[in-house]
Amino acid sequence: MKKIVLSLLGLFISIASQAQHFDLVPLGIYGGEQEDNLSAYLVGTPKDTAFLCLDAGTINTGIRRAIQLKSLHGSEEAILHNQIKGYFISHGHLDHLSGLIINSPVDSKKNIFAIAPVLQILQNHYFINDTWINFADQGQKPILGKYHYNELQEGIELGAPNTPFFLTAFELSHVNPYKSSAVLLRRQDHYLLYLGDTGADRIEKTDRLDYLWKTIAPLIKKGQLNTILIEVSFPNNQAENLLFGHLTPRLLLEELNKLKEKLGQNDLKDLTIVVTHRKPTRNNPEIIKQELLESNPLKVNYIFPEQGKKISLP
Ligand SMILES: [Zn+2]
Ligand SMILES: [Zn+2]
Repeated sequence: MKKIVLSLLGLFISIASQAQHFDLVPLGIYGGEQEDNLSAYLVGTPKDTAFLCLDAGTINTGIRRAIQLKSLHGSEEAILHNQIKGYFISHGHLDHLSGLIINSPVDSKKNIFAIAPVLQILQNHYFINDTWINFADQGQKPILGKYHYNELQEGIELGAPNTPFFLTAFELSHVNPYKSSAVLLRRQDHYLLYLGDTGADRIEKTDRLDYLWKTIAPLIKKGQLNTILIEVSFPNNQAENLLFGHLTPRLLLEELNKLKEKLGQNDLKDLTIVVTHRKPTRNNPEIIKQELLESNPLKVNYIFPEQGKKISLP
């Protein structure tokens, strides 16, 4: 009897320690070409329907796919209007925001979060009369005011209204000096890190990732951050002078080794990495997956997202 109680207790502790804190519904997963499947990730919490959309490359097709797969519930219109509470846009490239622009006429009033240079791009190049209509609340007239621009300042946390999340942005280098960004999302004392497009520090000649690893290392140590969404755009055979501010499996490993050193650990076996932004040219997505899984000395738990398929994260 004592044995049974003890093993039940053990089971309970292991379930409790694996508690799911975040739900992720990918609306789009690729880094180009397939215009119906470009970077956009809804993040929410279990048993709640308030989502923040991390990048917005593809919206409508992703919602329809997620309804089919029972990852989201309700009509396309209701999900867009009522469940997506705001957007974080990592940088100004089309594959991260075209879904937001195209769906803006049928969207509801909500917030856009981004660092200042990204808001400038939205304001000066997309929400203007020559290319579209100004649905935002600043910039060229007429101003329709559907979207409220919220500037994220590096390292300063901001609450996302109507969601349980608080956001802290970090600048990334995406062909230096072009700025992309990452967002550290907090709900109570649990965190999730999402990176927009980024090159490796060595190639970009910056220390942006080094600074980010230094910042998040204490959270990983305390078990408060278990998941990172990061890009791997090209297979290892992509020449280093043709990376255009992106990572390969080898370069991701180079960066993760630096994170491991800051943690003072031998591996990263408690870390889940959701691999985003694979470029879908030819068989590249499969090659990237194989290269990551075949050379995984840090024992990272890799997840390869699928459009519309919900992922439960610790
Ligand atoms: Zn991209
Ligand atoms: Zn980009």
